[in-house]
Amino acid sequence: MTANAPETAESVEEFRARARSWLAANLPRLDPDAVPPLPGDDDHLWLRARELQQKLHAGGFAGICFPREYGGLGLPRAYQDAFTEESMGYEMPIILNIPTFSICCATLLDVGTEEQKRQHIGAAIRGEEILVQFLSEPSGGSDLAGLITRADRDGDGWVINGSKTWSTSAYAADYGLCLARTDSDKPKHEGLTMFLVPTNAPGLTINRIRMVDGSTEFCEEFFDNVRVDASAVVGEVDGGWAVASQQLFHERNAVGGGSPYVSGRGATPTRPKSDPFAVALATGRTADPEVRTMLGEMLTLSAVRSQLRARVSAGIAKGHLGPPAASMLRLFHAEHSMTEDDHALRIAGATGGFGTGPEPGYTGLAGVSFLGRQGAGLGGGSTEMSRNIISERMLGMPRELAPDRGVPFNQIKRGSR
Ligand SMILES: Cc1cc2nc3c(=O)[nH]c(=O)nc-3n(C[C@H](O)[C@H](O)[C@H](O)COP(=O)(O)OP(=O)(O)OC[C@H]3O[C@@H](n4cnc5c(N)ncnc54)[C@H](O)[C@@H]3O)c2cc1C
Repeated sequence: MTANAPETAESVEEFRARARSWLAANLPRLDPDAVPPLPGDDDHLWLRARELQQKLHAGGFAGICFPREYGGLGLPRAYQDAFTEESMGYEMPIILNIPTFSICCATLLDVGTEEQKRQHIGAAIRGEEILVQFLSEPSGGSDLAGLITRADRDGDGWVINGSKTWSTSAYAADYGLCLARTDSDKPKHEGLTMFLVPTNAPGLTINRIRMVDGSTEFCEEFFDNVRVDASAVVGEVDGGWAVASQQLFHERNAVGGGSPYVSGRGATPTRPKSDPFAVALATGRTADPEVRTMLGEMLTLSAVRSQLRARVSAGIAKGHLGPPAASMLRLFHAEHSMTEDDHALRIAGATGGFGTGPEPGYTGLAGVSFLGRQGAGLGGGSTEMSRNIISERMLGMPRELAPDRGVPFNQIKRGSR
C-alpha cells in the first residue's frame, strides 16, 4: 500500500508547483474544442502512451504512490491527487492506468515475489511494459472460481491450455495475469493458481474482437500448450484465489475511481465517452427545462461520486472500511456512467444517430457511446456481483446459495462445459 509518511521533504504544494511548471514545459496541451474520435483501430494510442509514460518517468513524476524500491516515488496519495489535478488539460498516458498500474502492478505489489515487483512494476513505471488481465472465460466471468483453463505441472514449469476472453487491450500488452486451474480434485476456490504470462509465449494466440461501436480493444486468447517457468507463479500454487481476490479488490477500486495508482483523469481514448453538456451545447438545447433537469442530475451525481470516492478511499486506507467497500465505488461508477450515456442520447435526440453536420461530433458520439453503455455495468465485475458483495459482506445479509461450495471441482455438474 501507499507509504504513510512522505519520503520527501517537499510539501504537497511545493510538489504541485514543480509539477505545474514541468507539465507546461514538457507535455502537449489538449485542444479543449477537439471532439474525441470515434472508436476504431488504436495501435498508435499505445505507442503514444508508452512515450508519454517515458516522459513522466524522465521528469520524475511517474509511479508517484509506488514504493521507491520498485521504481516509484513512495509518496502519499495527496501528492498523486495534486499531480492529477495539475495534469488536467494535458495529454497523459491515461490508458496505462487501468489495468496496468491500478490493477496488475497493485496486485504484484501486494502478493508478487521480490523479483516480480522489481522487474514488472519498475518496467511499467518506465513505460516499458504493459500488463493486462486474463480472467474471464467464454463459459462465464462472474463465477470466476469456476474457470476451466488449466495449468499442468511440467518439470519445473507449467503448461497452460484453455481460453480467455474480454481481455481489454491484450494485443498491446507484454504480460497478462492469468488465473488457471491447477488442481481439479480440490473445491473450486482452492485449486487455482495465478500466472504472469508473456503475451508472446509460443502457443498463445491473441485475437482482437471488433465490437458493435467499432472499437477493437477487447481480445480473446487461446492457450495451446503454453509453457511458463515456475517463476511465473504469482502468490502460492493453488493459492490463486487469494491473489484473484486482491486483484478484484484493486479492479473495483480502480474502476470506481478509488485507486492511488491512477495518474491523470479523463476518458479512455480507446473508448471515447459522450458528454451530455457538450451535446446540449451542440444541439442548442441548454435552455430546455427537460435538458436542464438532466444536466442538473449529472452535476448532482458527479458531486456525490467525488464525495463517495474521497470518503471510501480514505476509509479503506485507514482501515475503517474493509476491501468490500470498493464495490460501492464500482457500483456508483456504473450508475453514473450509464446515466451519462442515457442523458446524452436523450438530449441528442435523432442527431445521436448521425450528428448535426458533416462530422458526427458530440451528438454522433452520443449514439456510439450508448452502444457500449452496458460495458460500465460489466467491466470490473458486474453491478449485480457488486450488489451481492455489498449485501453479503458489508450489510451482513444471508449468503447466496452455493451448492458447489466445498465440492471437488471435478465432481461439480457444469452444463455442457
Ligand atoms: C469494459 C469491459 C472490460 C473488461 N475487461 C476485462 C479484462 O481485461 N479481463 C477479463 O478477464 N475480463 C474483462 N471483462 C469481462 C468482465 O469481467 C465480465 O464481463 C464480467 O465479469 C461478467 O462476466 P460475463 O460477461 O461472463 O457474464 P456472466 O458471468 O455470464 O453473467 C451474465 C449476467 O448474469 C449476472 N449474474 C451472474 N452471476 C450472478 C450472481 N451470482 N448473482 C447475480 N447476478 C449474476 C451478471 O451480473 C450478468 O448480468 C471486461 C468486460 C467489460 C464490459
